[in-house]
Amino acid sequence: MKILCVGRNYVEHIEELNNTKPSEPVIFAKPDSALLLKNKPFFIPDFAAEFHHEVELVIRINRIGKNIAPQFAHRYYDEVGLGIDFTARDLQAKLKSKGLPWEKAKAFDGSAVLSRFVDKAQFAAMNDINFSLTKNDETVQKGNSGQMIFSIDEIIAHVSQFFTMKIGDLIYTGTPAGVGPVAINDRLKGYIGDELMFDFLVK
Ligand code: ZN
Repeated sequence: MKILCVGRNYVEHIEELNNTKPSEPVIFAKPDSALLLKNKPFFIPDFAAEFHHEVELVIRINRIGKNIAPQFAHRYYDEVGLGIDFTARDLQAKLKSKGLPWEKAKAFDGSAVLSRFVDKAQFAAMNDINFSLTKNDETVQKGNSGQMIFSIDEIIAHVSQFFTMKIGDLIYTGTPAGVGPVAINDRLKGYIGDELMFDFLVK
């Protein structure tokens, strides 16, 4: 099982980090050891000073595919979940400035929070899914899949040119604006629409 993530997929998030809008999806990967499941607490690691939440819609691949055409990409997943792509922002900035890979800042243990999944059939349109994140019951991030620069189907088509899609693979589809640091004792809750998807503590 592999975890692929899309960076810079929402215009307002690109602007808040002073990045440039990509002409094709920015892709990075996390190992399976990054997964944080079942509302387990996120323990802040000690190798960096600032850990940011990035709430993202996540899809799970349900069949094998390679070079998938965008018009067939919808056949390769039937569930949607919610995750957090935890990012050691200060460490990432250091790595970026040296032109080095992001993995230490993005792919560490616990950096891929994942909720349960819901059937995509419950959504009227895949490009109109609302999701949000609260920190200590205050909304900090809000997004809609229609704001993505690259749609879910375009992402699947793009990544499958490079990586064979396998059953159980996860794709984190990018974060909207509002990323920010977490601190010990913060409580993070993620929602798709009004439905609570995850609820866990930072320790
Ligand atoms: Zn992200």
